[in-house]
Amino acid sequence: MIVMAAHASPAQVRAVVARIRLLGFTPHVSHGRERTIVGVVGHETDSDLEGLGAFEGVERVVRVLNDYPLASRDFHPADRVIELAPGVSLGGAQVLVMAGPCAVEGRSQLEEAAAAISGLGVRVLRGGAFKPRTSPYSFQGLGEDGLRLLRSVADEHGLLVITEVLASEDVELVARYADVLQVGARNMQNYRLLQACGASDRPVLLKRGLAATIDELLQAAEYILAGGNQQVALCERGTRGFEPTVRFSLDITSLPVLKRLTSLPVVVDPSHAAGRADYVPAIARAAVAAGADGLIVEVHPRPQEALSDGAQSLDPSSFAAMMEQVEGIALAVGRTAR
Ligand code: PEP
Ligand code: MN
Repeated sequence: MIVMAAHASPAQVRAVVARIRLLGFTPHVSHGRERTIVGVVGHETDSDLEGLGAFEGVERVVRVLNDYPLASRDFHPADRVIELAPGVSLGGAQVLVMAGPCAVEGRSQLEEAAAAISGLGVRVLRGGAFKPRTSPYSFQGLGEDGLRLLRSVADEHGLLVITEVLASEDVELVARYADVLQVGARNMQNYRLLQACGASDRPVLLKRGLAATIDELLQAAEYILAGGNQQVALCERGTRGFEPTVRFSLDITSLPVLKRLTSLPVVVDPSHAAGRADYVPAIARAAVAAGADGLIVEVHPRPQEALSDGAQSLDPSSFAAMMEQVEGIALAVGRTAR
């Protein structure tokens, strides 16, 4: 909708209408008592209607439909369910819990983590083989060796694998070992990577960027969907706020907002939001209560020895206690978590 300024002249309105036609859209002019509004009907692909805002006599350009048609609930009204394996789904009645270390550090660490989580009914093992670290001198992950370890340890325990893919050129490699591709917060707007994930047949967990709006998150998801991959889930992991006592501020309000705007499953990562292990269970409970379809939680056999994110990683017994609580909340909202 092009909202003309209060005193726009008929010539200015005509210029806007002509431009809309030239761009291949259909204009609908309505003259109000105060001002004229020009409706624009059509599909915006290669033309950019924002440029109309620079015309004389135009007050603003208002988008009526959103920019994420495939991700929107209008397109797919029913909640979407992603089947990761027979009996393991994201988006259904079961709140899917994914757990494991921040980074794959070696076989024994991963085995201990896998044993701890699989004993509690968790079906998906997380662990980074390629790590996006703030400092180039921090542990960067084991790369393909880490992927091999993930696959072999997960198979031993009957688990699925979710792991981060950092770059578009790695999508094929990571997809060879992983059941679910994780796109990290720092890469939410890496459009080449999103397009490469769109061409993959693996489900994708797309994490919200550190300073991304919900609209930007949904448009990022749209890249993957538009590429032909319909198996996309979103992940809230906290955005950067002004509060220094937590690592990130988890936007719990975005759960009902996302549920309204999209039918894609929504996962919450309480670990990266909290930054401290003792905050994790409360955030996980709140997430499930607010409608999260899944949780992704960092668990390390010995958090004090972790090569990354030790402070926010739960040890096996705290994770077991959290699972008990989460199951209670899940039951209270008509779901199950184990
Ligand atoms: C992670 O899951 O270990 C991670 C790096 O998360 P994020 O992209 O949310 O920071
Ligand atoms: Mn981490």
